[in-house]
Amino acid sequence: MSNQVSKKVRHILSVSGGKDSSALAIYMSNRQYWRERLGKIANTPIQNVDMEYVFCDTKEELKETYEYLYKLEAYLRKKIERLSIADGEGFQYWLQVHGNYLPSPRMRWCTIQLKIKPFERYVGSDLVYSYIGIRADEDRDGYISKKENIIPLYPFKEDGIDRDDVIRILEESSVGMPDYYKWRTRSGCYFCFFQRKSEWIGLLENHPELYEKAKSFEKLGDETGSKFTWTEGESLEDLAHPSRIAEIKANHEKAMSREKRAKPNRPLVEVLAEVLDAENDDTACNICHI
Ligand code: SF4
Repeated sequence: MSNQVSKKVRHILSVSGGKDSSALAIYMSNRQYWRERLGKIANTPIQNVDMEYVFCDTKEELKETYEYLYKLEAYLRKKIERLSIADGEGFQYWLQVHGNYLPSPRMRWCTIQLKIKPFERYVGSDLVYSYIGIRADEDRDGYISKKENIIPLYPFKEDGIDRDDVIRILEESSVGMPDYYKWRTRSGCYFCFFQRKSEWIGLLENHPELYEKAKSFEKLGDETGSKFTWTEGESLEDLAHPSRIAEIKANHEKAMSREKRAKPNRPLVEVLAEVLDAENDDTACNICHI
């Protein structure tokens, strides 16, 4: 493929189905208004851009994510383009290509195949400003393409928008939080290996059929004796044992109560995010979890 950059300039905001990228879409739809509303000092002048909204659909998403995208589209009054993986090249195809090795934080082939490639195909050789919803209070970078025609921009960092602001944007726009926030704080595939133990229990209780599907991808004690499990050192079968569920839930409840007492009067979503981060602070995926 040619590395030549075409003259067409586009502005693309990729929503993940998570709270931050969704809040950014709302924010960018009327940046001047939201800056004033949140009392933020602007570092850069306002530009009116014709934004394209996209969602890279892994076909392994929660139904709550699709429902949330419809809500967001209704607010934006604009379609969010669903970027699909090529026919026959879904998760199971790539799992076979990778010798049944499940993806993991160290081997994130899923992000490359299911998220990055469809996005780069959509962009082609146009010059693209890619708007990323990393917040001012986060110490991480979002998707940074190696393609010279994709330029990342971080409006929340520029404008000093933090987690509290994001929650306000979502509440005041009436879009609210994604429904899966009752039990899980990260967007992305239902089987995502970045899930914390209590989130797996949330999947089991809210979508038992998806839990079973995730379980079916694990390989335990095959002829080589190797184990491929989603969470390190514990299979989903073991995790679903009643005594283990009770233990995980009790620990989670204790941590929630501790966190609520430590800093009272915070929205529950904030408490949940703190607790889950403390449970496992593996850096979230900088493409899927924004
Ligand atoms: S959500 Fe998780 S499993 Fe899905 S593509 Fe992203 S990192 Fe991989």
